[in-house]
Amino acid sequence: MNSQAKISNLDDLIFDNRFIRELPADTETINNRRQVIGACYSRVLPTPVANPQRVAYSREVAELLDLTTDLCESDDFTQVFSGNRLAVGMESYATCYGGHQFGNWAGQLGDGRAINLGEVINQKSERWALQLKGAGPTPYSRTADGLAVLRSSVREFLCSEAMYHLGIPTTRALSLMLTGEPVIRDMFYNGNPKAEPGAVVCRVAPSFTRFGNFQISTARGDHALLKKLADYTIRTDFPHLGEPTPAVYIDWFAEVCRRTAQMIVHWQRVGFVHGVMNTDNMSILGLTIDYGPYGWLENYDPDWTPNTTDAGDRRYRYGNQPQIAFWNLGQLANAIYPLIEEVEPLQQALNVFKNTFERDWQTMMAGKLGLNAFDPATDKELCTELLVLLQLVETDMTIFYRQLAMIDTNVETPLILSLCEDMINRFSTAYYVSEQITPDYKTRLCLWLSRYIDRVKNDGTPDEIRQQRMNAVNPKYVLRNYLAQLAIDKAEQGDFSMVNELLELLRHPYDEQPNKEEFAAKRPDWARQRAGCSMLSCSS
Ligand code: AMP
Ligand code: MG
Repeated sequence: MNSQAKISNLDDLIFDNRFIRELPADTETINNRRQVIGACYSRVLPTPVANPQRVAYSREVAELLDLTTDLCESDDFTQVFSGNRLAVGMESYATCYGGHQFGNWAGQLGDGRAINLGEVINQKSERWALQLKGAGPTPYSRTADGLAVLRSSVREFLCSEAMYHLGIPTTRALSLMLTGEPVIRDMFYNGNPKAEPGAVVCRVAPSFTRFGNFQISTARGDHALLKKLADYTIRTDFPHLGEPTPAVYIDWFAEVCRRTAQMIVHWQRVGFVHGVMNTDNMSILGLTIDYGPYGWLENYDPDWTPNTTDAGDRRYRYGNQPQIAFWNLGQLANAIYPLIEEVEPLQQALNVFKNTFERDWQTMMAGKLGLNAFDPATDKELCTELLVLLQLVETDMTIFYRQLAMIDTNVETPLILSLCEDMINRFSTAYYVSEQITPDYKTRLCLWLSRYIDRVKNDGTPDEIRQQRMNAVNPKYVLRNYLAQLAIDKAEQGDFSMVNELLELLRHPYDEQPNKEEFAAKRPDWARQRAGCSMLSCSS
């Protein structure tokens, strides 16, 4: 596995810290909270911690960085990725960004608890930026402490890697460390602060630049800085577009629109709800970024959001994610307008989002159903009715599609009652409330199954092939909210086994895994209203 990994000492990593080399730095170097004008970043050191301890690391991310297993299990690895030591070549800094939070312009935000360590160039000449989350205050920490707790760090670590293995663009996570220091948090902002274990995650991505990094300069009227960051981003992360010109800015924006649409289609496919789609949490590379109060759909419900901080408006609910992504791209368009000074081409580029989303969503649904291609003439209605059925009774989305893959389509249609009963029984593991399975519901589902079977027959796809196709896009295992919480409960007691077990499980989300069936089960009743399982807040 590790035959290619050659780095056994972190001081041997090759860094090329282009972001700080090419972009303007904050001239102030004291680490106090302030407005940072005319600069893309501020130099700041991680705060040392008392007694760091490794909880987990991702072997795939270690491989990206060419690190040996021995190195990842060494004390020096723990020291460096908890913020106690900078390896040779690391230069630490926090970036300046702004953003719209819950639809309102919030001014300067910035890396309030993220500290970048620099950009590694690996043996494949790929650029990977490293960033500690929770390593202490920065000039952008505003009134907060710059720290992170174990609970949210376990969630970020596991979900980053789970998303990667699901084939979804995302920032990665190299490591999860306990700091050995307590952090005070009022989990639901209701006057119940308590001490929780502090933790640091090392995130890894080609770039952590957000929509908000561009927005802040425009908001301040600093078009020169805006241009510097845009040109830098195009040259570094979008080199195929060519040297920046007004036409290239448009191409770039269109590509951001396309990538963002593709990312959202993936989210909808697996039932991922980000929870805080503020513009400061939108990656310019179209990566899923900032895992906070995210959640996974259990029963299919477009109105569901895991984030209690958003319970009123449900702005960031599952079914609203495409509209919000589009709105956020509109804010990015406003931010880069000074580079282009023409509305029309920006509007056309925004249409790329709509067109990509619609086309890819249809292809994605066809894939979930195992069809050769989406045929609007029949499949619009087929999908609409299915999504109604999934809501008529509380149905676990993940389980439903895996069961649908297994039905036998070599039967006569319309289905006779007894066959229908058999098929519906298949879905029993997906239903949350058995009393909801009324005769009316059964009749309607039966009708849909008959239509679906006809549609599959029309395609001429054998069941075995259809099943393979479906199981390649409909995961068996996702990071169910209650599973993450169980792993957190244990980790808080010093037992990291379940964190590592889930990390391992989620490396193969589409495979049947013997002896792991329990992790594919629907949410147990106890988890329905438990904090962390169905309710989360921004507190982390
Ligand atoms: P979020 O909603 O988590 O994406 O965070 C919004 C802003 O608040 C970002 O600028 C974060 O860096 C900052 N932030 C969140 N939590 C903390 C914290 N504990 N300490 C400092 N800054 C924070
Ligand atoms: Mg954020």
